[in-house]
Amino acid sequence: MAVLVQKFGGSSVADAGRIRAVANRVAAAVRRGDQVAVVVSAMGDTTDELLELAAAVNPAPPGRELDALLASGEQVSAALVSMALAAQGIRAVSLCGWQAGIHTDRCHRKASILHVDPRRVREELAAGKVAVVAGFQGLADTQDVTTLGRGGSDMTAVALACALEAAACEIYSDVEGVYTADPRLEPAARKLSHLSYEEMLEMASLGAQVLQGRAVEYAMQHGVRIHARSTFSEGPGTMIEEAREMAVGAVVSGVAHDAKVAKICLLEVPDRPGIAEQLFSALATRQVNVDMIIQSVNRQQVNDLCFTVSWEDLPAAREVSEAVAAQLGATGVTWDDQVAKVSVVGAGMAANPGVAATLFGALAREGINIEMISTSEIKISCLIRAAEVQRAVRAVHRAFDLGR
Ligand code: ADP
Ligand code: ASP
Ligand code: MG
Repeated sequence: MAVLVQKFGGSSVADAGRIRAVANRVAAAVRRGDQVAVVVSAMGDTTDELLELAAAVNPAPPGRELDALLASGEQVSAALVSMALAAQGIRAVSLCGWQAGIHTDRCHRKASILHVDPRRVREELAAGKVAVVAGFQGLADTQDVTTLGRGGSDMTAVALACALEAAACEIYSDVEGVYTADPRLEPAARKLSHLSYEEMLEMASLGAQVLQGRAVEYAMQHGVRIHARSTFSEGPGTMIEEAREMAVGAVVSGVAHDAKVAKICLLEVPDRPGIAEQLFSALATRQVNVDMIIQSVNRQQVNDLCFTVSWEDLPAAREVSEAVAAQLGATGVTWDDQVAKVSVVGAGMAANPGVAATLFGALAREGINIEMISTSEIKISCLIRAAEVQRAVRAVHRAFDLGR
């Protein structure tokens, strides 16, 4: 009897009809003889709505209370899916993160899972029930509820699959799997049948929202194979696994974009050792993840220092930058949230020098200006105007012939 983890995202549980469809799918696995642990996200846009509600009563809500609020969304889904299963004669029990043994650090809103104690889930499965776990949440050693960062139900699913030594970790959403670009932006995008952890990790951290980056990282570290599939069809989906298990990869496997990024610049910072360390360590203390960084050419002992962060981190990043700029005697801080990042990802890229030229050429032919560039072994990213993101994704997708 195989243990299976099946995770259903917000769009899959958006209303009563969809919850019944999820229950059908889980019931089919139970009837095949599998033991199933289900992980669910909050219904539809619930998390965004709860965030708006919180902001309406307090522009800077305490992290602990925000997590208490956000965690409620997943609990609603877990109870409803459990009820829908019961309506089909399938025995099921809903569990909050703490009941499912998800233990995290104390970092509210972006907590990391420290360990999973799967005893309760195992007991329920052994008793012939489906365990329906509320994703995205855990418990810190302070006994306070934490959440695992946006898209964090994927993290719950992967960590639970690992702890249960599950035969599969299936992540269901509203798309057939992982595509060469976001199919909502590029209709010519092609579904990939396999992708290495490394490539998926880059795609996810560069904005391909279909899987959470931290979840992919955890899966890679613990050897959990992820099967990304659609809730609404029987398609084969995409397997995320070790590169050596796959056929030789393409030079470029996909285009990712992220329109929820912002650029911050500290103007005319003194040009001396230790400045960057001072800024970026202050940002790290506030848990701000910095992405792209550029420093302008030195002119008269001062530089401009620019970097990008996610929208989520913008308020904290601005606060830190303004404080550090004042200490350093910089002449000012500017910020811009109407930028977007477009990236190409591929394990075969390191050995192919032409990739950057093809990327820049595709953007140039569209008249799209590049504001920042960053590269790694397996990706190249460009920062552009947000209004141009769809045109950029489609042009780059075409230039690398990814729809073939
Ligand atoms: P869920 O709510 O189930 O967690 P998400 O909305 O987080 O689902 O992720 C699914 C969405 O990810 C799709 O609707 C799609 O628009 C988007 N997406 C972005 N990039 C990709 C990609 N490369 N492949 C597939 N989907 C992608
Ligand atoms: N509901 C949470 C979010 O919207 C977690 C998730 O969907 O995975 O980010
Ligand atoms: Mg998601």
